[in-house]
Amino acid sequence: MLDLWFSEFHAPDAKLSILVKEQLYSEQTSFQKIDFFDSETFGKFFTLDGLIMITEKDEFIYHEMISNVPMAVNPDIKKVLIIGGGDGGTAREVCRFKTVEQVDMVEIDERVVRLCQKYFPQTACALDNDPRINLIFGDGLKFVQDAPEGAYDLILVDSTDPLGPGEGLFTTEFYRNCYRALNDKGILINQHESPYYKEYAYEMRRAHKKLASVFPIATVYQFYMPTYSSGHWLFGFASKGLDPVKDADFKRWSEFGLQNRYYNPGVHLGAFALPNYVQEELQKEEDMKRASLMPHCPYCNSTRIEKISTANRLVSVEMFGLASGKIAKQYKCKDCKHMW
Ligand code: SAM
Repeated sequence: MLDLWFSEFHAPDAKLSILVKEQLYSEQTSFQKIDFFDSETFGKFFTLDGLIMITEKDEFIYHEMISNVPMAVNPDIKKVLIIGGGDGGTAREVCRFKTVEQVDMVEIDERVVRLCQKYFPQTACALDNDPRINLIFGDGLKFVQDAPEGAYDLILVDSTDPLGPGEGLFTTEFYRNCYRALNDKGILINQHESPYYKEYAYEMRRAHKKLASVFPIATVYQFYMPTYSSGHWLFGFASKGLDPVKDADFKRWSEFGLQNRYYNPGVHLGAFALPNYVQEELQKEEDMKRASLMPHCPYCNSTRIEKISTANRLVSVEMFGLASGKIAKQYKCKDCKHMW
C-alpha cells in the first residue's frame, strides 16, 4: 500500500511532512480550502489552503500563549474581541478566565467553525456551551471598522497568514481601527508570523512596522510551535500604554488558579527575551520608520537641514527648469546647500 504524506513548504526548499493515517474530510468554501487529516504523531490536524492551522498535539501551546500573556498584563480584562479563531481554541482559553464577561468572536468562514465542532470537539467546546461567547460570522476587518470607540479591553487576532481572507488583518487601517476600538488599557495580540525563513520574516517585519506606527507600545513575543514554519513563532503585543513585562502581574494571574501545560510566569518573561537577530530585524523597521518621519534632504538624504528665514525663502523656480515665478522655500541642506 502507498504511504500518504501531507507536506507544507516552509521555504522553497524546506518542508514539514506528516504521514497521514487517513484524510477525514475536504471542502472548498467560498473563502478557502479546508482539509482534515489524522496522523499518529500529531493526532488530528486541519489545514486551510494547504497550511496547518492546528494539530491535536500542539494546539495548547498557541492557545495558551495568545490568551495568558495579555491576561497577566491586565488581569481586569472583561470584554474580549476575537478575530478569526474558527477552531475555537482561543475562545476556549479566554473563557477559562472567570472574570471575562463577554467574548465577541468574528469568524469569516462558518464552515471552519462547524467542521471543527465535529472533528475537534475538545478545541471547539466553548463555542457550544459558554454563554459569554457571541459568535458572529463576518469579516473581522469590517467588524472592527464599525465597532464603538473604546469598546474592548482586549483584541485577539487569531488569523490565517496575510494571504486570502486574512490579508486585510495585516493592514495599517485594520490596526488603526483596533486602536480605536480598544479602551485606554487596551491590548492587541496578533498572529505575527515567524522570524526564521525569509518569506515569513518579511511578513513579520511588515506587520511590526505597521503596528509600531499605530501603537505606542509594539513588540513581539515568541513560543515554540512544532508544526508551524521553523517551529519558532511569534505573536505581536501592542498596547496603548501597558508594558508586557513591567506591568505583568503574576500574583493576580496565579489567583486565576489555571493548570497550564505551556504558559507560566517564567515562560512569559522568556517569551519577550528576543534573540539578537530578531531584535535587529525589528529594530531595522523601527529605524526606517523613524527615518521616514525625520525631515531629510531630498537631494543628498542628509538630515542636517535648517529652516530658512522668511527673507531668504523666495527663490526663482527657473533654476529647476520649471515655469518662471517665485516660490517659497522652507528648508536648506547644510551639506549640499540645496533649498526646497
Ligand atoms: N492558529 C492558526 C494559525 O495561525 O495558523 C489560526 C487558526 S484560525 C482557524 C484562523 C481563522 O481566521 C480561519 O478560520 C479563517 O477563516 C479566519 N479568518 C481569516 N480571515 C478573516 C477575516 N478577514 N475575518 C474573520 N476571520 C478571518
